This record gives sequence, C-alpha cells and structure tokens, in this order.
Amino acid sequence: MSRGLEVLLDLLFPPRCVFCSSLLEDGEQGICAHCRRALPYLRGEAARQSCEGISLAVSPLRYEGEVRESIRRYKFHGRRWYAETYGLLTAEWIRAHLEGRWDLLTWVPLSPKRKRQRGYDQAWLLASAAGRHLEQTPVEVLCKAKHNPAQSGLTEAADRRKNVSGVYRCAAPELVRDRRILLMDDVITTGSTLSECARVLREAGAADVVCATLARAR
Ligand SMILES: [Zn+2]
Repeated sequence: MSRGLEVLLDLLFPPRCVFCSSLLEDGEQGICAHCRRALPYLRGEAARQSCEGISLAVSPLRYEGEVRESIRRYKFHGRRWYAETYGLLTAEWIRAHLEGRWDLLTWVPLSPKRKRQRGYDQAWLLASAAGRHLEQTPVEVLCKAKHNPAQSGLTEAADRRKNVSGVYRCAAPELVRDRRILLMDDVITTGSTLSECARVLREAGAADVVCATLARAR
C-alpha cells in the first residue's frame, strides 16, 4: 500500500484498539497502552491446561469482558483484521510454552455452510497470522464433514461433546502421520471441540497434539 493511501485510510478509519475500541496513539499497534497492561492475561502455569487427547493447550487471555466482546466482533461482525493482533499475541504464548513440541500447524475448520455465511474462517485467519510470526504456514488437514449447531448455544459439557462427535474428518492423513500437531482455535471452552479434533488427528496417526487458542473460557 502506498504511504498516501495509508494516510488517507487512517483519516477515514482511524485505527482502534481491537479490545476496547479506543483510538490508538502513534506507535501503538492493535492494542492500546491501557489494554496492553490491563487485559486478563493468563501467565505462567495459569496459561496451560491439558484436555482429553491434548497434551498441552495454551491461551494468552481469559475469555471475559472486553476480550469476549472483541472476539464476538471478530467472529460475528466482520472484524477479520483483528486476526493480526490476536495472532501476534498467541504466537508469543506458543513460543513461550510450546517451543520444540510441534511440527505442523493447523486449525479447527468451519463447515462450508458457516464459512459462506461468515465470509471467512476465523480460526484459519488466526492460525495464519500466528504462523507468520512463527514462520510456519498452516496446513489444512481437518475438514468438517457435518454441519452442527453452534457450540456457543450449548452450556453443558456433555451436550457440547455430543454435538461435535463425528463432525470432523482428517482430510490428509499422510501429512499427519507421525507428526506432532499444533491445533489452533479462537476460544477453548470445555475443550470438547479441540478434543474431538485431537481424537481424529491421533486416529490418523499423529504423534502428539498440542493446542493454542487466543482465549480460555473456563
Ligand atoms: Zn484498548
């Protein structure tokens, strides 16, 4: 983009903090100084958890307050460019907690129907942005074989598990076999979606599955 066009776009659409939507000062990238300090970060051991089939899942942020509102705008109101800021933050946590533990980067895919409605796959955008900082291009190895109701409408862990059971398929077992997979998604809630994907990946021969999400709900 030319510098002139960039200046014009900044005048028309001044860059705002992806979390609190306040105008950014010169030199601030994606996150305002206040949010950079005050976001509900998960640090040290608090950033780490394990779930069924996943040896380690890490998340930089707790899914609450402005983080939750921001992710809602990202998923449901077209703010696809938030992926840049999210990806940089998540990549930092991946480096700190998962360095040397994975060989292949992938993501939890949307169904073709949901992708058509939304116009983009938010987990792929997040994985691509994080991948740029980790010098890895995400590889498509999972696909959604069935359209299921959104997990966000279900609160019980058992219902969420049932809702995702048998929904994903490994589209490229030859790429997965004996590899250690880093699986990305925007939010981890009960872990049922990520665990189901991990089960499919392990069935296809993955040596290990670790996960990274921008935020953690529980
Ligand atoms: Zn802010």
